[in-house]
This record gives sequence, C-alpha cells and structure tokens, in this order.
Amino acid sequence: MGVADLVATRCAICGTSGNATEMYAANFRLDDLNPVIFSARRSTDHVHYRMVRCDTCGLVRSDPTASPDTLAHLYQESGFDYDDEVGNLRATYGRYLSRLAALCGPGASLLEVGCGNGFALEEALERGFASVHGVEPSTAAAAGAAPAVRPFIVCDVMRPGLFAAGRFDAVCLFQMFDHVADPGGLLDECWAALKPGGHILILNHNVEAVSARLLRRRSPIVDIEHTYLYSPSTVARICVAHHFDVREQGSVWNRARIGYLTRLAPLPAALKRAALATCDATCLGRVSLPLPVGNLYLIARKAPVSG
Ligand SMILES: [Zn+2]
Repeated sequence: MGVADLVATRCAICGTSGNATEMYAANFRLDDLNPVIFSARRSTDHVHYRMVRCDTCGLVRSDPTASPDTLAHLYQESGFDYDDEVGNLRATYGRYLSRLAALCGPGASLLEVGCGNGFALEEALERGFASVHGVEPSTAAAAGAAPAVRPFIVCDVMRPGLFAAGRFDAVCLFQMFDHVADPGGLLDECWAALKPGGHILILNHNVEAVSARLLRRRSPIVDIEHTYLYSPSTVARICVAHHFDVREQGSVWNRARIGYLTRLAPLPAALKRAALATCDATCLGRVSLPLPVGNLYLIARKAPVSG
C-alpha cells in the first residue's frame, strides 16, 4: 500500500472536506496498517492518523485515512484479544442493555453491530431481550461465540439488505461507532432495521472526557482505529441529523481491572513494565473498580422522516 491509498475524509455531520483545524499530526508508517493494529483492545501503541476538528460543528475525525475497502479488510482479518476483560465489559454494557430492554418492553428483539464474540448478546438475553442478532466482520471473533448466540451472528459488515426493514426493537453499538468510515450511512442502516419507535444505544469514547483533555495525544483514544471521535454534543447531533430523537445520554461508569487500566495507561515503557509486574505478583491487578474512564452513552428513538 502506498501513500496514494490514503483518502481525504469529510465531516460526517457537515459533509465538508477540509474546513477543519489540525489537533495532532499523523505519526504512523504505512506498514502499521496491518490486522494486529486493528485488533480489539490491544495494548496502546499510540499510532494514529492526522486528527482534525471540524471548524463548523466540532466533530473530530482522522484525515486522511486508509480507504474504506482497506479498513474493511483489516477488520475482517483482525483478532480478538480481550477475553480477560469480558466479565467487566458484560457488567458495564449490561446496565445499559437493561435500560434499553425496559424502554422496549417484553419480548423485544435486539441487533448488535460489531458484536465481537457475542458476549453482549449473551448479556442481553439475561437482561430481558427475547431474541438477539449480531453482525461482526472478524471471522476469528465470531467463531469464538458461545453456542447460545453463534447461530445468530452474521459474519459481515452492516450493509443494505442484510436484514429486513423494520425487524428489530433495538440496535446497539458498543465501542464501534468511532471505528467506522461512514457513521451517517451506518445510522441510516440502523434506522432502516429498526421498527417505528425502536431504540438505538451507542456507547464509545468521549473526546471531551477529562482524561482525553489532560492526556491529549497521549490518550489511548488518539488511535489509528478511530476514524471519528465524539463528544456528547457531536454524537447527539449526528443522531438527530439521521432521524433519531435523543432520549438520554451521559457518562459511562466502567467496571475495569486495575491490571487492564495499567496496560492501557500512557506510562513510560519501563514504568509500565514495573507496574504490570506488581499487578502480576500481587492480587492488585485483578481488583475491579467502577470508574468514569472516559466513555459516553446515548439512547435515541427512531423518528419518522419528515418533509
Ligand atoms: Zn462538521
């Protein structure tokens, strides 16, 4: 792949190219574009594209990036290495799945886009959803799904025609909305897949969180996997632009192990090795704490298209 394969991006809210102020210059080499870099929740390596903030709406995006086809291929080949955190992720996502299930009522159906090995689908069944489906581009991740949910996972990306229109009561996007090249197009597909009045749940990084503001380019969220980074205001704005009414939004309290947070922390290599060795040698690394580590969530309702 050559430099020519990088493509300019547009603001997903305004549709403008350019019209943005650089936040961080690119720091990657082209051979960084490999499936390992695009594997879920690897240790941070601080590789990122040039990141800019739209001068009109404030949406943060990578610009330029690899082409959407290259991105799709990288995710298809990517691995799945966060098994040791699945318990805490289930607890964190489960709280929001319960709110979603309560809004949808009994007997509801759920679609998760970017479901990995389906752990959130299992949690959704325990939290009151009657049926679940998932879409996941990584064949390795989908192959690792539990028998209860494996038959309901399609190995693909969300695209027109994958599901019948108006099929689901709810759609959820956990830590994936900031990875997609065309978030507006994804919202349109989710809108189409939802029943009238159905709900969407989006949970991902908050570019305006205290940690992101303090750490700036050393924040783990400044990462080549993130095509866009959202704030509470920009995530609400793009949902409204794609015919959703925002019902609630806020900060996420994640349950996370101290060892996992240490692995992600922006520490010098020698200090991080020492801290991780301490975590391994004691039980400290396995202790879980609820912390606002810099994620946001939003629940919105499918609105009719007016005009
Ligand atoms: Zn914009």
